Amino acid sequence: MALIVQKYGGTSVGDVDRIRNVADRIKAVRDEGNQVVVVLSARAGVTNELIARAKSLCPEPSERELDQLLAIGEQESIALMAMALHGKSVKAVSYTGAQAGIFTDKVHTKAKIKMVNPKPITRDLSEGKVVIVAGFQGIDEEGQITTLGRGGSDLTAIALAAALKADRCEIYTDVDGVYTSDPRVVKTARKLPEISYDEMLELASSGSKVMQSRSVEFAKKYGVIFEVRSSFNHNTGTLVKEEVAYMEQVVVRGIAADKDQAKVIVSNILDKPGSAAKVFRGLADANVIVDMIVQNVGRHGIANLTFTVPQADTVRAVKALEPVLDAIGGGQVAVHEHIAKLSVVGVGMKTHSGVAATLFQALADVGINIDLISTSEIKISVVVDLDRADEAVRVAHAAFKLDTV
Ligand code: ASP
Ligand code: MG
Repeated sequence: MALIVQKYGGTSVGDVDRIRNVADRIKAVRDEGNQVVVVLSARAGVTNELIARAKSLCPEPSERELDQLLAIGEQESIALMAMALHGKSVKAVSYTGAQAGIFTDKVHTKAKIKMVNPKPITRDLSEGKVVIVAGFQGIDEEGQITTLGRGGSDLTAIALAAALKADRCEIYTDVDGVYTSDPRVVKTARKLPEISYDEMLELASSGSKVMQSRSVEFAKKYGVIFEVRSSFNHNTGTLVKEEVAYMEQVVVRGIAADKDQAKVIVSNILDKPGSAAKVFRGLADANVIVDMIVQNVGRHGIANLTFTVPQADTVRAVKALEPVLDAIGGGQVAVHEHIAKLSVVGVGMKTHSGVAATLFQALADVGINIDLISTSEIKISVVVDLDRADEAVRVAHAAFKLDTV
């Protein structure tokens, strides 16, 4: 007998037939003699619809009220799933985040889990019930409903797996697992049998949207091994776990393109101590997340700074820079949105050389110009023209032989 935590995403519970299909899968695992805890998302589209409705009534809704509202999406899923299981004579009970003992801080719409009290769940499991928990939500110390940030049901599942010391944690979604690259762009992309937490995090922050990053960070911190797999078939998925030595034999694990970035150029600023500090302080105070940063060599006392920000933040970034430029004695801001960030990721880069050269050569061979470059221990990112982003991914995928490894 094993204790298994399963999480099903919004498309997996998108309508009554799909809920029935998931109920069958849960029943099958339970009938094998396992204890099962199920975490559910809201039906696909529901959270977005609720946010749109809220904003139609009030452009900047109170975050407390938003949490009150958004929590109902998951609550619908769990109650219906419990009923679907009852319809198949499976003992089951549904719990909101609060009822399941998920305690968070007070930060509405992006709360952090502080503690999980798994007692109610363990009691039900020992009575032979399947326990169904609403993902994405918790309760703060004052009894207020909180939510964990978009995609937060993944986090609920990982946190419960850690608190319950589950034998297995399975994240069911509408893709088969984590691929070497987006299969819609690269026909020869392969599903990875396993990947390290760090690689998964780098890919997530580079535009691959399989899972919420925070939940991968949480899994790494608490050593929760989990599998990403599809609820629409029975294929094995991708195991996400700590890095082990043999993983370094493969130099590049995956390639992602982020098309939601913009490039900001701050030109003609004084090349003196404090200029960059003031620019990035201004951006940080406006909650703009800056990614790649390049500063050219100053000439005649004048320098240029170039960096990338999420496209959604460009207006805020430009606004934040106005007073900064006044304070440092001038400069101009230009924004280019027609870019993509291509990233190659792999723990093998720590021990292999020539990765950058191979990537740059592959792009040069097809005449793709490289704009910005940044590197970390296990990642190389380049900015290229948006129109050539897919082609860039394909040539890089081929250059690192990812279709054959
Ligand atoms: N329903 C929430 C969202 O759409 C949480 C989740 O799906 O994980 O962001
Ligand atoms: Mg989701």
